[in-house]
Amino acid sequence: MGRYIGPVCRLCRREKTKLFLKGAKCMMSKCPVEKGRKVPGAQGMRRRKTTEYGMQLREKQKLRRSFGIGEKEFRNYFEKAAHQKGRAGENLIRFLETRLDNVVYRLGFVTSPRTARQFVRHGHIQVNGRRVNFPGCRVKVGDIVEVREKGTSRQRAAESLEATHAQIVPEWLHLDKNRFRGEVLRFPMINDGRVPVDISLVVGLYTK
Ligand code: SF4
Repeated sequence: MGRYIGPVCRLCRREKTKLFLKGAKCMMSKCPVEKGRKVPGAQGMRRRKTTEYGMQLREKQKLRRSFGIGEKEFRNYFEKAAHQKGRAGENLIRFLETRLDNVVYRLGFVTSPRTARQFVRHGHIQVNGRRVNFPGCRVKVGDIVEVREKGTSRQRAAESLEATHAQIVPEWLHLDKNRFRGEVLRFPMINDGRVPVDISLVVGLYTK
């Protein structure tokens, strides 16, 4: 399945939780989840008993959709996570959270995950002084992620930093607003995830 390009609030309504996909609007009372809008489509009309599989599927969709990645890519992440040393769930969160587009969003250089992908792709970001335009590039501890000093890059980042000033930069990152740069202090852990998910249900879905 390809990448979803429809209205993102619909995804939050489907998952009945805030996935923070729309920048500043997510913090306002205008957010459809805050307003208690129902699940979209025919699904919202039905009341079905939730099976274990159903719960696992919803947690997986929540996680996948919050990062805006496709099914195949998500499964690849899981397989890599399961084959690495350590717990699969923790590895999976680490892989997803350390994607360059996510780091750019978490630092507040852009206002939404979708814009982050575009910002990286359009060459506005450098890692350790080198331009990187691959949103899925994974950062490591000690890496410096910086907005480039070209064209309108920093001006756009400044506007986003202003708009996202209420957004909390996670503990595993350090932001230097004046220099438009962030540093990866440590790898993120399960509780550092952007959206709370029961990771054991996601692992359960793929390890049947
Ligand atoms: Fe839309 Fe953001 Fe609310 Fe999700 S959290 S429904 S993206 S405003």
